[in-house]
Amino acid sequence: MSFAARLTIDLDALAANYATLVRQAAGAEVAPVVKADAYGLGAAPVARRLMAEGANCFFVARVSEGVGLREALGAGPDIHVLDGCPDGAAPSLKASRLIPVLNSTEQVAAWRAAGGGQAALMIDTGLNRLGLGPADAAALTERDFSLVMSHLACADTPAHPMNRLQRERFVGIAALFPGVRRSLAASDGLFLGPDYTFDLVRTGICLYGGGPEGAPDARIRPVATFAAPVLQLRELRPGDSVGYGAAFTAAHPTRAAVVAAGYADGVLRASFPKAYGSLAGRPCPVLGRLSMDLTVFDVTDCPEARPGAMMELVGPNVPVDTAAAAAGTIAYELLTRLGARVERRYRGEPGPGRS
Ligand SMILES: *Cc1c(COP(=O)(O)O)cnc(C)c1O
Repeated sequence: MSFAARLTIDLDALAANYATLVRQAAGAEVAPVVKADAYGLGAAPVARRLMAEGANCFFVARVSEGVGLREALGAGPDIHVLDGCPDGAAPSLKASRLIPVLNSTEQVAAWRAAGGGQAALMIDTGLNRLGLGPADAAALTERDFSLVMSHLACADTPAHPMNRLQRERFVGIAALFPGVRRSLAASDGLFLGPDYTFDLVRTGICLYGGGPEGAPDARIRPVATFAAPVLQLRELRPGDSVGYGAAFTAAHPTRAAVVAAGYADGVLRASFPKAYGSLAGRPCPVLGRLSMDLTVFDVTDCPEARPGAMMELVGPNVPVDTAAAAAGTIAYELLTRLGARVERRYRGEPGPGRS
């Protein structure tokens, strides 16, 4: 038995979520976003399985992520790089046949000066992050892009007026690029409805088990299970405290389980006092401040707790959105912070014979 925190990635659940998003997209292409090592779940195994399910177009953030993904996937699929063509990156982009998402007039010029080739164009419609503004987009003389895109600021709030506003701006600017495919929505935008899907949607979090609007959703299956073994049980008497700062004091006799995962493994320190784990399907509240290597849970009502038993911190019984909200954050941050020390295991990897 390995006494360490473990992340199990259910690739069958990933495939089921991809199928759900394909149905929701109703004809628009679903392009998986696998930046940041597929939100911490492993870009290569995740993308390989999605290819086996029919995905043929991926997005990463950094040029280096694109180079790595090209090595993992071979020559076939399209790989877009959201950073576009930063200074000096054109040779690497070309050598790995990466498609830059050009996001400024300067990048468009640099890409053309380096010989050009297939490229997408990012338009800013109100996020004020990356992308050309309407005037700069209108001023472009050559408009032979393979995709024109923008990104929504408030898609997790369907009633927010920014959604309509950004969509209107996007449609207006995209009209300057006749015949070019259009993409506006990420996961949440896809669930805003058919007005937002256009030709291609770029989905990350809903593939990985986060629900639309940042809340657990019956349509999306959990993909990541993060669990760690109980190292030791302790009996607390009334008045006994737990952990640094003595932030928790037992009011009643309490059975406590010391679990082998802490913030170095990605358990968010802000999880105390709201978070809970699950052992044998029973919720077990966090007790006291968690530390670098250890977290303590209340297992008073959990007779199954014993050394070696696995405490689920995220998974089917502790939705990733719920665990993130308990720590005051979002599923994206929780997943991308899971530590390098955590052992990764995969269920449902495509065999060598499948393509
Ligand atoms: C990260 C990102 C996405 C994916 O967003 P999700 O909410 O995870 O689906 C799509 N497009 C852009 C530009 C992004 O930066």
